[in-house]
Amino acid sequence: MRWQDWKSARLPPNTRSAEFKTVNKKIQIGVLAFQGDVAEHIEAVKNAAVKLRRNVSVVPVREQRDLTGLNGLIIPGGESTTFYKLCQREGIFGEIKKIKNILGTCAGAIMLSKNAQNKTKDQVTLQLMDVEVARNAYGRQNDSFEADISTTLGAMHAMFIRAPKITRTGKNVRVLAEHEGEIIACEEDSKGKYYLALAFHPELTTTLFHEHFLHKVFANS
Ligand code: GLN
Repeated sequence: MRWQDWKSARLPPNTRSAEFKTVNKKIQIGVLAFQGDVAEHIEAVKNAAVKLRRNVSVVPVREQRDLTGLNGLIIPGGESTTFYKLCQREGIFGEIKKIKNILGTCAGAIMLSKNAQNKTKDQVTLQLMDVEVARNAYGRQNDSFEADISTTLGAMHAMFIRAPKITRTGKNVRVLAEHEGEIIACEEDSKGKYYLALAFHPELTTTLFHEHFLHKVFANS
């Protein structure tokens, strides 16, 4: 049998091209690159894409033009006040608010929050996700810690570096992990927007959350 005949005998018209399109869909992820584990997040996204066998490109974001064509953004840990100031300086604070899928870790989770306690004077968050956080609520830099945690995605080791506490979650927010009574991972998937907030630094120990994020971005793109 010729290939053309075999193909049309087995599949209804257009099935192959539709399948081909889904499998080959390509998304672009940005990593806000002012400070923090930028290289580690880029690496984690690449590794997650290999594990999922999906087509993902990942770029550092420092200025307006880097935001073009992004399907999702990662805001790493660092210092949320500094992130706010640099986003303002580069004129991208408002543009970031329009991105449909955002993963925020630690300072990034503070950036995502609707409300943050213990902010510095003049600090503003993106106010995208219906959660409230308390900055530096575990104490000073010296009080940073590691822990084995269990999450809805599986068990993992996690680093908490002057982490915030997630103190309130809205009705559309789903908790993905808790540690010693505190929420440490949660997501909000509603109205075509997807936000994932983590109090710890997954990029140092696992790709599970990056894989989960990529799944959601593919579904949403
Ligand atoms: N303490 C930092 C802040 O308030 C967050 C720490 C981190 O991202 N590791 O922004």
